[in-house]
Formats: sequence, C-alpha cells, structure tokens
Amino acid sequence: LAEQLRQSQKMEAIGQLTGGLAHDFNNMLAVVIGSVNLAKRRLSTDPAETLRYLDSALEGAEHAATLTHRLLAFSRRQPLAPEPIDPNKMVSSMAEMLRRTLGEDVRLEAVFAGGLWRAYADTSQLETTILNLALNARDAMPQGGALTIETSNAYLDEEYAAREVGIPSGQYVLIAVTDTGTGMSRETVARAFDPFFTTKPAGRGTGLGLSQVYGFVRQSGGHVRIYSEQGLGTTVKLYLPRHHGPASATTTSTPPARTAPR
Ligand code: ADP
Repeated sequence: LAEQLRQSQKMEAIGQLTGGLAHDFNNMLAVVIGSVNLAKRRLSTDPAETLRYLDSALEGAEHAATLTHRLLAFSRRQPLAPEPIDPNKMVSSMAEMLRRTLGEDVRLEAVFAGGLWRAYADTSQLETTILNLALNARDAMPQGGALTIETSNAYLDEEYAAREVGIPSGQYVLIAVTDTGTGMSRETVARAFDPFFTTKPAGRGTGLGLSQVYGFVRQSGGHVRIYSEQGLGTTVKLYLPRHHGPASATTTSTPPARTAPR
C-alpha cells in the first residue's frame, strides 16, 4: 500500500510538472535552433565564432538528451535483475570514468573495507546510482574538493530499522558517498528525494536524480539516507541487502557456514 501511495504521488507529480518540463525542453531547443542559425550566418566570415555557436548548440542538445533520458528511466518501471556484487570491484572499475566526470578539481578517494560482504542488486542500476551521486557531488563543489566512496559491512539493528518504514533489521552492505561541497539546508534534505525537486537553475537540474536513487534502493530491498551539513558537505548512505550464498551458480555446491535464508 505504501508503495502504491508513493507510486500514485509520483504519477501526480509527473502530471503536474509535465508542463514545466515541456517548457524547459523548449528552452533547450531554442538554444539549439538559435545557435545553429547564428552559425549558418557566420559560416563563411568567421569560422571561430561559427565553432562557438555550434558548441553551444551541442551543449543545448546534450542537456535536452539528458532530460529525456532521465525522464524515460524514471517513468519506465525497469525490471531489476539483481545479482551478487562486490562493491569494491564495482567502484574500482568505475574510478576512471568517475575521475573524468568529476574533472581536475575534485579528488576521488576510495576507502575499501576488507572482508566486505557481497551486495545483492542490479549491477547497471547501482552503477547509475553511484554516477548520479557523483554528479550531484560535483555540482556541490564548484570550487573543487573531495569525493570519497567508502564501503563497509553494516548491521541495522531492530531499533534503527523499526524507525525506518519497511526496513527489516539485519545485514547490509553500506556504500557511503561523501563530498566536501556546499551541503544542504534541512528543507532541502527533507525534499531531496521528491521527484522534480531541484535547487539548480533551469536546464541544469531535473530533480530526478535522487528520486531515481531512492526508487532503485527501495525496490532492491535497501535503504538510503542523507546526512548533510551546510558549508561542510554531504554523505549519502546506501544500504544494500547482503547476498548470502555462493558467488555464482557455477561455483561450489557446499554453501559457506554463514549462509542463512533471507
Ligand atoms: P538535480 O540534481 O537534478 O537537482 P536531484 O534529485 O539529484 O536532482 O537532487 C535534488 C536536489 O538535492 C539538488 O537540486 C540539490 O539541491 C540537492 N542535492 C543533491 N545532492 C547534493 C549534494 N551532494 N550536495 C548538495 N546538495 C545536493
């Protein structure tokens, strides 16, 4: 029922804001059309300026493409294909791409727990989630800073779990993404997971990143939480269900001693 309510609130939000999005999208197209027209006019006289106009057309088109991709990912209820994941390996394999995304002014640090449990989640959506968090972190650090991704085993006790809607206590794999950026006000933290909530200027933010993260983590049977301090930075903690059992279908038939049904 809670899921249905959330879903219908989401649909309502989509309905209310479709007009706004169409408006944003039109603005982006106006940039593309205007720039291409200017480029056409300067084509023979000023190649350098032509190039600048074409670059801004490209930028406008890329913003529009990002918006539609996010909308599609958000509205399509993608079926998840969960599998055992070693988060340390996943983060390592993303490091190069993350560095390129973050740019030169943001330092990427990884703190890997030894003996880390495996998580049970959809690989490509978890990667998208980490990328979403990294993009938010980058936006929060225009002057540069550090992005730290830390993994650990976590146990959610009854008391903590009971305070969170629908989260069973037990073993989880924690991925914490911390930035040294602007941080969020209490009001922003309270609304950050809402679809279409954004504090970024039109054309920069869609307000869909964190709501996508929220939907994915909850659908995976996990839990996500934001800790933020204005002027200091933000930590987003992803608790993913622990995978019990063999690493893959092809390995050993003897389950490890700690295996327990979930
Ligand atoms: P968008 O990034 O498109 O605005 P999100 O749903 O990802 O949409 O984020 C919603 C809002 O939450 C952002 O506009 C921003 O105000 C705030 N936010 C998210 N991540 C961070 C962060 N790491 N640091 C500061 N503010 C953040």
